[in-house]
Amino acid sequence: KALPIDERQGSEIRQVARACYSRVSPTPLKNPRLVAVSQPALQLLDLDESQTARPEFLEVMAGNTILPGMDTAAHCYCGHQFGNFAGQLGDGAVIYLGEVVNAAGARWEVQLKGAGLTPFSRTADGRKVQRSSVREFLGSEAMHNLGIPTTRAGSLVTSDTMIVRDPLYSGNAIEERASTVLRIAPTFFRFGSFEVFNQSDLKTGRSGPSAGRGLEHTMLPQMLDHIICTFFPAIWRAPAGSLREVTDSRQDMYMEFYEEVCKRTAQLVAGWQCVGFCHGVLNTDNMSILGLTIDYGPYGFMDRYDPEFVPNQSDDTGRYRYEEQPAACYWNCEKLAEALKAVLSRGRALSWLQSNFYLEFQRSYMRTMRHKLGLLQLERDSDEQLVQDLLQTMHETGADFTNTFCWLVEVSLPKASSGQSNPIALEDGQSSAPEQNGAGPSSSGGTAETGGFLEHILGSLASSDELAEAAAPGMPTQQLRVLMQFSHNESLLAALGASKELLQRESRRLQRFEELQKVSAAEKASKDEQRWRAWLSRYRERLQLEVDAGATATARVDAMNSVNPRYVLRNWIAQNAITMAEKGDYSEVERVLRLLEQPFSDDAAQEGGTAVQSSERSLQYDGPVPQWAKRSCVSCSS
Ligand code: AMP
Ligand code: MG
Ligand code: MG
Repeated sequence: KALPIDERQGSEIRQVARACYSRVSPTPLKNPRLVAVSQPALQLLDLDESQTARPEFLEVMAGNTILPGMDTAAHCYCGHQFGNFAGQLGDGAVIYLGEVVNAAGARWEVQLKGAGLTPFSRTADGRKVQRSSVREFLGSEAMHNLGIPTTRAGSLVTSDTMIVRDPLYSGNAIEERASTVLRIAPTFFRFGSFEVFNQSDLKTGRSGPSAGRGLEHTMLPQMLDHIICTFFPAIWRAPAGSLREVTDSRQDMYMEFYEEVCKRTAQLVAGWQCVGFCHGVLNTDNMSILGLTIDYGPYGFMDRYDPEFVPNQSDDTGRYRYEEQPAACYWNCEKLAEALKAVLSRGRALSWLQSNFYLEFQRSYMRTMRHKLGLLQLERDSDEQLVQDLLQTMHETGADFTNTFCWLVEVSLPKASSGQSNPIALEDGQSSAPEQNGAGPSSSGGTAETGGFLEHILGSLASSDELAEAAAPGMPTQQLRVLMQFSHNESLLAALGASKELLQRESRRLQRFEELQKVSAAEKASKDEQRWRAWLSRYRERLQLEVDAGATATARVDAMNSVNPRYVLRNWIAQNAITMAEKGDYSEVERVLRLLEQPFSDDAAQEGGTAVQSSERSLQYDGPVPQWAKRSCVSCSS
C-alpha cells in the first residue's frame, strides 16, 4: 500500500491512496555529531551509556543508517490549523523508525524529527534547524521532569548539512545546521490521525468534508480498535461483528475512548496552565491521542504572568495565547468528535464534552493550584477566587509566574486559633503581632507573616515602562486609534484584515498602555505593595483555616516545593544554550538539561545553576530575565 519515496514527484507528492502512511527512509546528514543525549529517555529503550558511546548510535540518531528490524515510515494525517481545516498534512519532517519493547515489557515508538523529505513534506525540506532541535530536545525533557505528560527526546544530533530558514533570525548567517531529535512516546497518533479518513480526499489532495476516501467505515474503526486495544486496555473489549457494523456496544467503547481522550486533554492543559507553559500551535494535528504534549515548536514558558502571552510570532490574532489554551483544546476535542462521527454519534460525544470538559479541567487545575499554594487540608469554593486574584495581582504588578509560586512558601503559617468560636482573625499583615512559626524570622521589608515573600516579590516587579511596553499593541498606537473610530464598521474592519474581537482586545491593551504610561515609579511601587498586602492577608486568612484543620509547616513546605518548580525552560535559558551551540559549544545544552532534570531542587543550583553567556557575564537560571531576552517570541521554524 505504501508509495516508495522515489515514486514521489512534483504535483503527485501528496497522492497516497488508501493508506495512512508511506514507507520512507531517512536522508543521511553530512558529518553528524552528537550534541546531547538524555540518558533517562534512552533508558526507556534499554540503551545505556556503553551503547550511546558507540559510533553506530550516532549513525542511527542522524538517520544515516537504520538497524535491522526497523520499519521506517511517515504517517499521513490531517488537521485544523488556526481554526481552518488544512487538509492533508502528515509527517513532513519526521520519520518513524519502529517500536521497541523494553525488558520491562513497555512498548515505545521511536521517531526521528528532521530526518529529511517524506511524501508529506509538501513544499518544505523535511529538515529541522539546530536551534529548533535544541528547543524540542530540552523542552520535551523539561516538561517530563515537571511531571507533565509529554513525548520524550533521547538524542540531539547536529551536522554539516546546511539549510535555509527565516533570514531574519540570524542576520546575514542564513544557512543553519540541519539537526535531528530522537522522539520517544508510547504512540504519536494525534487527533488529526482520525481526521484523515472522512474529511479529506487524499487521492486528489482536495480537502473539505467530501468524505473522499470512504475509509471512515473501514480504516477509521480499524485504527480506533488498534489504538484502544494497545493504549487503552482498560476500555478495550473485542467488538463483535464486522468493522462496518457499529453495534451499540462498539459505539459505547468508542464513547468511552472519546471521554478518556478528552479527560486527558483537559488534565494536560491544566498542567500547562499551572507551570505557565504556552504550546504556541494548538492545531488538531498537534493534539496527542494519549494526552501528551507534542510538537515543541514556537512554545514558551512565561516569565512575567500575562494571560495574553503568545510565544508564537506568527500567531497574529493570539488564537493560542496562554489564557485561551483550555478553549483551544476544547475546540480541538469538538473536531475529534467530528472526525469520529461515522462510528460515534457526534451529538452524544459533544454533549459529554459540553458538560464535562471544563469541569475536568477545573478539577485538575484547582487540585494543582491548591497544592502550589500549600492548601492541602481543605477545599473551599472561594479558593478559585483566591487563585484568580493572585494571578490578577501578578499581572497588574508585573510579577514573574514561576518565582512568585516559589516564594509563596516563605509566607508563614499562622498559629492555630485558640477557640472554634473565633477561628479567623482578619489581619492586614502590617498591624498584627509578629509570629515566628513556619518559615522562620522575617527579613527586612516583610513581616513575620509574609516572611521574605513580600521583599522578594516587591524587589522583582516589572517597571511601568516594561509593563507598558508589554501591553503595547502589535500595531502602532496611532494606527490603532484611527482604526478604533471605525470599530462599528465590521465590513471595513474585515477589509483591513481586523476583526471586531481583535480590535476590542487591542483597544484594551492600548488603554492599559496609556494608563501605565501615566503612572510614576513611586506610585506604582506603593500601589503594588498595597495590592500584594491585600492579597496576602486573604491568603493568610485561608492559611488560618488550614492550620485549624491540622496543617503543619513542614508538610506544607514539602508539598509546595514538590510542585512549584524553581527552574523552567525560560526562553532566554534556551536561547543562551542555542547561541553557544551555534558556536560549537554544546556544554550549555548539557548543563540546562541537567538543571531541568531537577526543576524543583535547590541542589541543581549548586551544580549548574549558573548559565554562562558568551560575554562571560554570569547569569542565574532562577534570577531575573536578562535585558537582551525581554522580548520573547519565536517563529514556527524555531
Ligand atoms: P507543525 O506546524 O510543525 O505541526 O507542522 C505542520 C505540518 O507541516 C506538518 O505536516 C509537518 O509535517 C509539516 N512540516 C513542518 N516542518 C516541516 C519541514 N521542515 N519539512 C516538511 N514538512 C514540515
Ligand atoms: Mg506538528
Ligand atoms: Mg512543528
